[in-house]
Amino acid sequence: MTQPLRTREPDFRDRLRYGAMIAAVIAPVVIVLVVAPDQPLYALPVVFALLFLLILYHARNTAYRCKHCGHEFAVPVWRDAFSPHMFETKYLRCPACGKRSWAKALVREG
Ligand SMILES: [Zn+2]
Repeated sequence: MTQPLRTREPDFRDRLRYGAMIAAVIAPVVIVLVVAPDQPLYALPVVFALLFLLILYHARNTAYRCKHCGHEFAVPVWRDAFSPHMFETKYLRCPACGKRSWAKALVREG
């Protein structure tokens, strides 16, 4: 957790990839509503499975930069999933300075 991370700003391709992944999570709901509109709950297990994979992927490929001290850090999957977030920021406590901020999301490389 304390070794320096290789990061970069997210670009258009990253946003497109996450947009496509979110569409893939929602797609089963649309498909079930068309194919079996009287059984909408059939979509739930698939949606939860895809959502879990999306969160796992996101947690492994995202780092956050503290607004106070600029420290860049990764977070565990459960924190990535359950911390409040807005677009490309997430409300986190920095492991370096201990302050909370809306940390900027970055793409993690390697
Ligand atoms: Zn900090």
